[in-house]
Amino acid sequence: MNRVGKRFRGHYLPPLNAQLSHWILIMNPYKEFDTSKLHDNELKRYFASIMKTMKEVAFSIERGYGLPPHIKEIRPLFIEEKGFNAEADIIDGIAYIAISASVPLLLRVLFDILLSDSEVFPQLPQEESNIKVRYEAPFIFNPRPPFERKQFNIGLTIERADAARILSDKCVKFIFLHEFGHMLCGHIETNRELNPDQPLFEFYGDTTESETYEGLRRYWEYQADCISADLLAQYIDTTVNHAHGAQKWISKLIPEHEHDTNGIVKHVTGMTIAALNVLFMYMDNCRFDANTRAYHPPVITRMMYIKDSLFTSVGERHNLSPHALSEDYYDLYVEPFIFAMDKSGFNAAELWNELHWDNADTVLDELTNDREKHRLRCRQWSWLNVDEWGA
Ligand SMILES: [Zn+2]
Repeated sequence: MNRVGKRFRGHYLPPLNAQLSHWILIMNPYKEFDTSKLHDNELKRYFASIMKTMKEVAFSIERGYGLPPHIKEIRPLFIEEKGFNAEADIIDGIAYIAISASVPLLLRVLFDILLSDSEVFPQLPQEESNIKVRYEAPFIFNPRPPFERKQFNIGLTIERADAARILSDKCVKFIFLHEFGHMLCGHIETNRELNPDQPLFEFYGDTTESETYEGLRRYWEYQADCISADLLAQYIDTTVNHAHGAQKWISKLIPEHEHDTNGIVKHVTGMTIAALNVLFMYMDNCRFDANTRAYHPPVITRMMYIKDSLFTSVGERHNLSPHALSEDYYDLYVEPFIFAMDKSGFNAAELWNELHWDNADTVLDELTNDREKHRLRCRQWSWLNVDEWGA
């Protein structure tokens, strides 16, 4: 079953500036989301902490690469928008890395729903008497207009609520870092050359009618995914570093690794990949449609190269073999989340059937082969040296 885990294929990341692996902690056309509208203080802190991290990413990129002449500022922001969407654009010298404010909210509820299922992370307590977070939510099933809804009952122990928050946080960071990936590869400017009237929309909003563009865009999504997964590795470290402090649920989940950092790294990486699979499955509803479209490769294809990318970069940071990291993660984490999504009525298990596997292999081969075809298209705008791609 664990076919994703068994194989490692060369992934073709543009080389990242070495300085990026050492983070330095330290009125516009978009309507920025006003977090004072959130009534819950915990949610306000959640938004603030994600934004603080993304400003640090922007700052590190500026420091690491130096801004190109046509960009004077990189501005990550949450925008006032109800749909599950993200976009990137450059306007008047400002590179906007924008995510709808609904994205972190929807992902928080989605992971709360899944962690309410005691078969996900069965080692974590879920006795009725210890449930501390309880609410009902009309969750948006299909994350694009007209927003099909279904009522869910959520009940979580503290440990499960903490796990849900950390996993949704990884997904929001992944989406932001993916947008930074589009910027670093020069996709934003190239997109404006091809589509003068629209920014680079992530999940819906795109109205381009061109088959050539479709192949190019799918390749861009692959590149942005690989860069995002590579950058996400450092936030796996953040969670690992707090496994004995703020993230005590981890020691309840894997008590056998209490004094074994590599064991914790392995498990946190596995559950992060499983969380990204949840995100990809949820987003799958945004794929091709008469009025809206997204260009992301199919779920299994994304999982194949995402896990390569994450296992490689986490492995390098901890001097671990990617193969050692890949053991068990599918059975322990990916599969239970697929079952939990299915039980809650999402279209999940079907996305992993044999037909999808065959298609995933074909698409991965196409993406790998398309590299030469698309490599030079964004050369003028790319922050990364396109001649070194795949080196
Ligand atoms: Zn994208």
